[in-house]
Amino acid sequence: MGPSRPAAHPSLEGLAQADVEARPWRRCTLRNSMARVVFLAGLGRSGTTLLERALAELPGVQALGEVNHLWRRSLVDDELCGCGEPFSRCPHWRAVGDQAFGGWDNVDVAAVEAAQSEAMRLRHIAGLARGRPSLRTAVEIVAEHHRRVYEAAGAVAGAPVVVDSSKHPALAYVLRRDPALDLRVVHVVRDPRGVAYSWTKQVERPERRGNGSERWMARYSPSASALLWLAHNSSTAMLRALGTRVMLVRYESFVREPAQTLAAVAQFAGLELDADAFAFVEPGALRLQPAHTASGNPLRFALGRLEIRVDEAWRTQLPRRDSLLVSALTYPQLAHYGFAGRRKAVP
Ligand SMILES: [Zn+2]
Repeated sequence: MGPSRPAAHPSLEGLAQADVEARPWRRCTLRNSMARVVFLAGLGRSGTTLLERALAELPGVQALGEVNHLWRRSLVDDELCGCGEPFSRCPHWRAVGDQAFGGWDNVDVAAVEAAQSEAMRLRHIAGLARGRPSLRTAVEIVAEHHRRVYEAAGAVAGAPVVVDSSKHPALAYVLRRDPALDLRVVHVVRDPRGVAYSWTKQVERPERRGNGSERWMARYSPSASALLWLAHNSSTAMLRALGTRVMLVRYESFVREPAQTLAAVAQFAGLELDADAFAFVEPGALRLQPAHTASGNPLRFALGRLEIRVDEAWRTQLPRRDSLLVSALTYPQLAHYGFAGRRKAVP
């Protein structure tokens, strides 16, 4: 009997360095400068898709959607790009795949998914923060695949900044370990009672194609979403203590004053923009063009004038006992982010 090894995902077994290096796209390097990535982090239903759509309108920004889902939903299920084309027929993404990997066919999706399921877990946040050796291979695989997509997407679009709205904080912990990435995390936080109400609603995924892909967006009970809200927001906030650049954006503030928030995020991303860059922001609305986003909330397909207002349906629709439960579970973080003690909307 040999010594027991740390449990690794079965698909990662035998993924020796030589095997990784044998992949043809590993040899080509296309880096002129570090890829600058704005990573939108936070719990789902916090407004990250809306923020990403708005950022996509800014000059110098290429929004990618939720890149962590690209491997399965785009490469395998061929779901729709935000431009409306199936992923395989979108010229933008085809060019990105050619530049990043010499074609998407060269991506070993099973290996990426195995690495994702190994590393991208909330319970691994502490291990990721410490750089636990047993996670190293999985971290490198996930980070390298994402970095290649970022670099190629930025180069194809001629954009110095790319946006990944994957949201999951564990992915931010993975990406921060890649020294070739200029990672800037925008931490989007929303009132947990609004988040909880949103997670109770049934939402169909419009990009679904065929029987293989998921039809409905996931749902969570108010108590489950409250605990996820705590875990996601506290682990995202912790990134700052590790030296990662983090900017906090409250969904409610963004929707009330989109131009002001967008200007602050653009500055955080290192973009110098004049007032014309924000001309798509109208009173109470955004004017949106198609964006080549892979996966994400159905809002990524919205086009033209999109009215925006703070969605506070939870104040009347979320049962009072659920609202109190979520408040109790998320306190004192709820207060820390400024959501306590207000019966009316935050001005
Ligand atoms: Zn497209």
